[in-house]
Amino acid sequence: MATVNGEAILSVDDLRISFSTYAGEVQAVRGATFDLRRGETLAIVGESGSGKSVAARSIMRLNPESNTIVRGGEIIFEGEDLLKLSEKRMLDIRGPKIAMVFQDPMTSLDPTMRVGRQIIESLKQHLGMSGRQAAERAAELLELVGIPHAEARLKQYPHQFSGGMRQRVVIAIALACDPQVLIADEPTTALDVTIQAQILELLRELQERLGMSIVLITHDLGVVASTAHRIAVMYGGKIIETGTVREIFYTPQMPYTWGLLASIPLPTADRSQDLIPIPGTPPDATDPPKGCPFAARCPYAMRICEDEVPGYTTFSDEHRAACWLHHQMAPNVERPARITGAK
Ligand code: SF4
Repeated sequence: MATVNGEAILSVDDLRISFSTYAGEVQAVRGATFDLRRGETLAIVGESGSGKSVAARSIMRLNPESNTIVRGGEIIFEGEDLLKLSEKRMLDIRGPKIAMVFQDPMTSLDPTMRVGRQIIESLKQHLGMSGRQAAERAAELLELVGIPHAEARLKQYPHQFSGGMRQRVVIAIALACDPQVLIADEPTTALDVTIQAQILELLRELQERLGMSIVLITHDLGVVASTAHRIAVMYGGKIIETGTVREIFYTPQMPYTWGLLASIPLPTADRSQDLIPIPGTPPDATDPPKGCPFAARCPYAMRICEDEVPGYTTFSDEHRAACWLHHQMAPNVERPARITGAK
């Protein structure tokens, strides 16, 4: 998909979020900076524990209040820093302006309540619609997300829907107030492959039709190729590479991104090549590395990588990566064959 050039609707700058735990302070997000533009889908990709979901929940202020520590940064939406708003003010934003879809639709749905009532309550509460208006709108919303026989389906309970259909219902509820931003946190992870593709296609269609901006959080780089405009790769609480989908897939500049690409089937790669998982585990967030977060797993790590955080090198208007390999004093390294072969 062509990149969307335009103003940012949401700007996250140097976000630092920790959690206070018995094991110590978990530094989940350690200086994440990214923009979401009007009418684009930005995919934030990284392994479990990279900080991507915590960053997404910070936008909605959904991290547990009791032990979340905001160490710094800001999240600007409509000229206001969401991190500084009162909870009362957040109620005007969470749902009506920025909505979220989670991995497991059952966590968002009340199993004891008919689906129609769940959508209607949301419409009445946030938009002040009458019962009749809300019922009509609820049926429209189910049709919008591709659920046939909407009027009959509104009378059913969540358990009467398949996993994919339940996720469509959750998306319908998220769209009820016509939000400007939709955050989808691993929306397809709990679904089988065919249904995954259908939900991703639905998100792509809705984004185009409604002109929404979407943040798509996923651990699977493979699912974003046809859904996103841009990709931000996150690791160890930091955004370590950003670029258009094309740039990240065809000219990745950071060994962690090379590793992610080597671990998924590429449509243009030689199918006979094996998929290679990234060896090792993500860094301990209670004692994060001093330098590059990927240093302990990186086959190209140099001494400086352990001691100093690499700055960003810019490759195009959209593409930048944080890696010491791009420093003028670094040795030339050959990219893995599977990555160069993907060109
Ligand atoms: Fe590897 Fe060093 Fe680049 Fe980090 S900065 S990805 S450790 S080469």
